[in-house]
Amino acid sequence: MKQIIVVGGGTGGMVAAYELQHALRATHQVTLVSDVDYFQFYPSNPWVAVGWRARQDITFPIRPHVQKKGIRFFDSGLASIDAENNTIVLKDGSKLPYDELLLSTGAKLDFDAIPGSGPHGGWTQSVCTVDHAELAHARYQEFLQNPGPVIIGAFPGASCFGPAYEYALILARDLKKRKLRDKVPSLTFVTSEPYIGHMGLGGVGESRAILTKALQDEGFEVITNAAVTHVEQGVMHVEEKDSLGVTTNVRRLPFQFSMMLPAFRGIPEIMTVPGLCNDRGMVLVDDYMQSLQYPNIHAVGLTVAIPPVETTPVPVNVPKTGYMIESMVTSIVTNLKNRSMGSPVRVKPTLNAVCIADLGDSGLVFVALPQNKPRRVDWFTQGRWVHLAKVAFEKYFMHKMKTGHSEPLYEYFSFKLLGITRTTPEEEREAS
Ligand SMILES: Cc1cc2nc3c(=O)[nH]c(=O)nc-3n(C[C@H](O)[C@H](O)[C@H](O)COP(=O)(O)OP(=O)(O)OC[C@H]3O[C@@H](n4cnc5c(N)ncnc54)[C@H](O)[C@@H]3O)c2cc1C
Repeated sequence: MKQIIVVGGGTGGMVAAYELQHALRATHQVTLVSDVDYFQFYPSNPWVAVGWRARQDITFPIRPHVQKKGIRFFDSGLASIDAENNTIVLKDGSKLPYDELLLSTGAKLDFDAIPGSGPHGGWTQSVCTVDHAELAHARYQEFLQNPGPVIIGAFPGASCFGPAYEYALILARDLKKRKLRDKVPSLTFVTSEPYIGHMGLGGVGESRAILTKALQDEGFEVITNAAVTHVEQGVMHVEEKDSLGVTTNVRRLPFQFSMMLPAFRGIPEIMTVPGLCNDRGMVLVDDYMQSLQYPNIHAVGLTVAIPPVETTPVPVNVPKTGYMIESMVTSIVTNLKNRSMGSPVRVKPTLNAVCIADLGDSGLVFVALPQNKPRRVDWFTQGRWVHLAKVAFEKYFMHKMKTGHSEPLYEYFSFKLLGITRTTPEEEREAS
């Protein structure tokens, strides 16, 4: 049996382990390595932070579910990769040889870049992990006893802006529900994006107009092109830039509660492998998600190096959303399967972006096909149905991750429900 190791038990890693097992179980042993023993549904973390979900609603233990499918599971975490000898070393010292290695290790949250930021030793909260969301919720409970100014947003270099908008709007809604909105003197949205709704994608459809209005309706002051330099207890230091990146204003913004999304880096355990990563620790891959240096190493998800769509006054990066991640997995699995059957046909991921954000009783959704402009589909909309779609999506995704049900979920949502054309005729020909 050949050995395939998937590292990272998150969105990309779980989907990859199931898909690889489904496609290659006759010839390959699939092993999943994570650094924790549970799966978390990241899109629900903003809900945990306002108390609309609890940890147990959005997490489950990985081991029993993947073992049922014949996938080996280790939760001691990757310590290092010996790429020359096709072996990984785990944090408990054990060594696992591989024929193919798939990295889906997500991101290290770069709070170090902004002194005073982050939930561990800093003054801002995060919704990037369920642990952080729980800390944010505890801090929010204290805040409700003693309300004051609120700042929500994203630091320079951030890429994942959807959860910042989502959290800002559900927090405003939660304050209203609790009849405390009038006790909060200011809500400020501070973002590195050049304009509201840019989202690291140069905007999607009417994202600018819709998100500007949504924030305005909830009474947010908005600061764009904002480079937060550092944070002190109760004060955020922000440089506002003009279109050339020149500082035009320096502000000290007081806050009682703040949630700011950080920039992402690759995890340190993969950064030291010669030629594997760029200087931010993101894996350098070709069009087929194969490492440029090591053909038997593949990468999916946040850990993949993708350049920004355009230069902006304050750096922002491209989001890597679930649909894109799913398509990266599909291409790797298809290519490995084709190769094992002696077929030279290779498929590329579609790299489209689909995102659903909840706003309490309504929601926002965008579809960008392809992610970079010019696009075939450039669609952003708002409605009550999106809230219901997100709840259904959460339930279905958790079910899929527990059962290994192999219907590609984002494909299903965007193409079957919304009726969007999947690919160009050329891409269909290449994929068939
Ligand atoms: C709050 C939030 C909300 C989001 N909402 C949406 C949304 O609505 N729609 C959407 O499309 N996208 C959304 N995203 C973006 C994206 O889909 C998710 O971040 C997605 O989980 C990324 O998948 P991934 O596999 O790359 O990384 P992750 O899901 O983060 O998985 C990485 C895994 O690697 C593990 N790991 C880390 N270090 C090691 C190590 N040393 N050894 C072994 N394992 C390790 C981690 O524990 C984790 O299990 C959201 C992101 C966040 C943070």
